[in-house]
Formats: sequence, C-alpha cells, structure tokens
Amino acid sequence: MRIVIGEGSCGIAAGAEKVRQALLNYDLGGAEVSITGCIGMCYLEPIVDIYEGEKLTRLVKVSPDDAENIADYAKTGDTSKIEKLIVSDEDSEFLTKQTRIALRRCGIINPDEISAFLEADGYTALKKCLTELSPEEVIDIIKTSGLAGRGGAGFPTWFKWNAARQSEGDVKYLICNADEGDPGAFMDRAVIESDPHTLIEGMLIGAYAIGAQHAVVYVRAEYPLAIKRLNRAIEQAKEKGIIGENIFGSDFSCDFTIKAGAGAFVCGEETALIESLEGHRGMPRLKPPFPAAAGYWLKPSNINNVETFANVSWIINNGGEAFAAMGTENSKGTKVFAVTGKVKRSGLVEIPMGKTLRDVIFDIGGGMKGDKAFKAVQMGGPSGGCIPAELIDTVIDYKALGATGAIMGSGGMVVMDESTCMVGMAKFFLDFTAKESCGKCIHCRIGTKRMLEMLERITKGEGKDGDIELLEELCHSIKDGALCGLGQTAPNPVLTTIKYFRNEYEAHINEKK
Ligand code: SF4
Repeated sequence: MRIVIGEGSCGIAAGAEKVRQALLNYDLGGAEVSITGCIGMCYLEPIVDIYEGEKLTRLVKVSPDDAENIADYAKTGDTSKIEKLIVSDEDSEFLTKQTRIALRRCGIINPDEISAFLEADGYTALKKCLTELSPEEVIDIIKTSGLAGRGGAGFPTWFKWNAARQSEGDVKYLICNADEGDPGAFMDRAVIESDPHTLIEGMLIGAYAIGAQHAVVYVRAEYPLAIKRLNRAIEQAKEKGIIGENIFGSDFSCDFTIKAGAGAFVCGEETALIESLEGHRGMPRLKPPFPAAAGYWLKPSNINNVETFANVSWIINNGGEAFAAMGTENSKGTKVFAVTGKVKRSGLVEIPMGKTLRDVIFDIGGGMKGDKAFKAVQMGGPSGGCIPAELIDTVIDYKALGATGAIMGSGGMVVMDESTCMVGMAKFFLDFTAKESCGKCIHCRIGTKRMLEMLERITKGEGKDGDIELLEELCHSIKDGALCGLGQTAPNPVLTTIKYFRNEYEAHINEKK
C-alpha cells in the first residue's frame, strides 16, 4: 500500500504537510508514505490518495485529526471510519471529465524523485529525438501537431523553433518563460511543482531542435517550491547524464540554469524577460530584431512557456497527428485552465480545445457557489477580457475567444456571479496593469493612470456624462500607441465590460444625479 499526499502549494496551504506528519506518528501497517504535486482538485485539499495495486481510494479535506482513522484503514482495510472522507462520485468527475496531456503526471508521480518520472516513460521522448530523429524531423512533428504557444499569443511553436534553428550562430539559447503573473493563474506553477522533469525534457527537446547548448528557466521568485523542486530535478538529471555532455551518447550537449525573476508582470513579455535575464531593468525591446535572430546576449534564442514545453514529449511519443486530432481547425490539442472565483469546484482543468466555457464552468466546475446566477468569466487575466453569461457556449479556440473581445491568454479563468460589479472588476485589473507598466511609453504609462482615475471616480459615484466615451477613446489610443503586449492589451477588461455591461457604467454615473 502507498499513501500519497498532494503537496503542491495548494495542498500545503491547506495543511497537507501537517497531515503527512500526523500520519507518520502512527503504525501504518508497512504502508509507504510519499508525496505528489497538485492533484488538480484544489477545492478539496488536503487530499490523501491510497493506492493498493491498481485500486485508488481518494480521501479529501483531510485533517491531521483523521490520521488515526487512516492508519486503522491501512492496517485493517476497514473503511467505516474513513467513509466520510472518500471523494464523492460527483467530485471525481472533476478529473474524469478532463483530458490530461500537459498535466498527465501531475498529482500522480513524486516530483522529487527522478525514478518516478523514469518509471512513467520519462525521458523516452528525449532519447528518441537524440537517437532516431534529426532536429528538422523534430520540428516537423511539432508542426504536424499544430502546437501553439500556450503563454497567450498562440504563435505556432514549430515556426519559432524553425526560425531559431535557421538563425546563424554558434551559440544559441532555449528559454522557458515561467514568469506566470496573471492574477488567478497557477498552471505553470503547478506543472513545475508537480512534474519538473516534464519541463526539463520538453526544453531539452526544444534545445536539440533549434541547436541550443544552453537552456534557461526564468521563473518568478514568488514560486519558491517550484524553484526548489526544479533545482532538485536538474541535479538528478545531471547525475543521470541527462543534462550535460553527449546526452544519451549523442553529440548533443546542453547545460541548464534557473533565473529567479523579481516579479514584474512585464517580464512575461519575451524581450523584457531577456533584458531581465541579462541583469537589466525588465523593459521590452523594440522588435525587430526578434529573439530568434538576436535574443539573449543578442544570440539566437527561442522562448516558450511552461505548458508549451509540457506538451512536447507527449507529442514526440504519440505523434503530431494524435495531438492534432484533438481540438478545432485552428486550435489543436488541449489547454490547461486555472479555474477560480465564484465557481463551486476550483482547480486545474485540462480539456481539448473545442469544448465550451459551459463545459468548464458548469460541467467540470460544478456551476456557481451558493447557486447564484453566473454573470461573466474573465479570461486571460489583466490582458484578457470578460465574457458575459449570454456567450457561455463560446467554444474554447483562439479565434472564437478572440471574437468576443477576450483572449485565450495563458489560462487564467476567473468566474464571477451576479453579485460582482463589472466596473469594479475592470478597475481591479486596470489598477494591476497601471502599476505594472514599465513606463517606457507614454500611452501605457500615462494612459492607464488616467483611465484608472476615471474608473475610480465612476465607482465612487463621481462620474459624469461623456466618461464612457472618453474611456473608450483612451482604450483605443493606448492599444494603438503601446510598444508591447502589456499596454496593447491593458484596455481589454475595460473595453469588454463597456461592451457587455455598459448599463453598469451608466448606473454608477447616474447614481449621483
Ligand atoms: Fe512598458 Fe507599457 Fe510600453 Fe510595454 S506598453 S513597453 S509595459 S510602457
């Protein structure tokens, strides 16, 4: 018997470490106790999974006081004392209704042990690439898969890899953007904390494909557990010869480093990230040149986010066609969402593209807490937009979501019910982007502040006629004039709330009359 405790940041915050310590105080009848990462059902933490061969008994909302009863079960097999902790069939559907590719090992394997990863087919895709496939063939497989960057922009991964491969240069860099900064987003953190070797494997395959000798992960310093587990994974991979010289006996060599970023949202923009990596203030560069031609230290560089890399080894092992068979015509594969807010079941959800927002929020998420009415969902964090209840059947696909005025984004999904003030919601996100503006260009630096002042006035009941039109004008001027994605998308929450909830702006303005 194995007793496995979910110890991602979510589980630890709910008390999982105390549950494990309490269990270790009892005779467990020889059962082995270990940890795993985020199981995904964050709303049911702490979670304890008990494996007996193929049989899984999942216990939820476990407290240290339950340790004695769990120990009794471990020794006798009698479930009577743990019955109330066993996950319901309804809650189990939160996971069974998902299709997990990027998250396929999360919450299952022990992230601290490379042996667990190797037993779960780990590094077989890397070995296949290095011993059977040329870099061009690897890029072709990724092209066939239709994998697009999961960081938000949705740019075809193969195209970026190919551009970096084609760039002249004897030194190249492969960079992972793990600077996950959207409020409400925790997909990347969960992948690194739960399955760090999958990220390493995807990055090494990417490095091989573009001809890079250096792999770098830029991860936010606010993710100490992710950094710790990734550091441990790198050390273990080095000991096994998977990072270093002549990997798997090939002529491919690659080193691997981590840089902890200081938490600037703009460093999610790839050229600002590169500036920060080089030790400068994180401010976007003018493009061109693009990083594929002149990136880190002005050498050819490729940057993808964590989820993008987490898909790569699955694609190599299962074929590009298998990945492309999921999804829609223009959005292939699966997408991970961090579902939060007023939804009953919050956590990590991975579903094939082509499912609808209703599938995620109601079928998997269980609908609204307290059975209130669903009002809207904010997609893509502060760069995204809100999608109202009448568009709940919108298909999850880059084009369909873009048509609503929102974006797919990196996967943050904040669900709101009838009690949410949409003007207040727009103000919250604009306050965030105004503070995170790097200040390089006037439209973004000054424009977001003026917009924020207006929203503050409006929500205080001090708005006046013409404010909505002025807000819209400022939104368009900032979108047109901003240098980077932060400024170009900052007005989205305001534009979409004006589009779908103009009556709420008018109500605030008319309050004073
Ligand atoms: Fe900086 Fe904003 Fe300009 Fe981007 S748009 S470079 S964040 S000031």
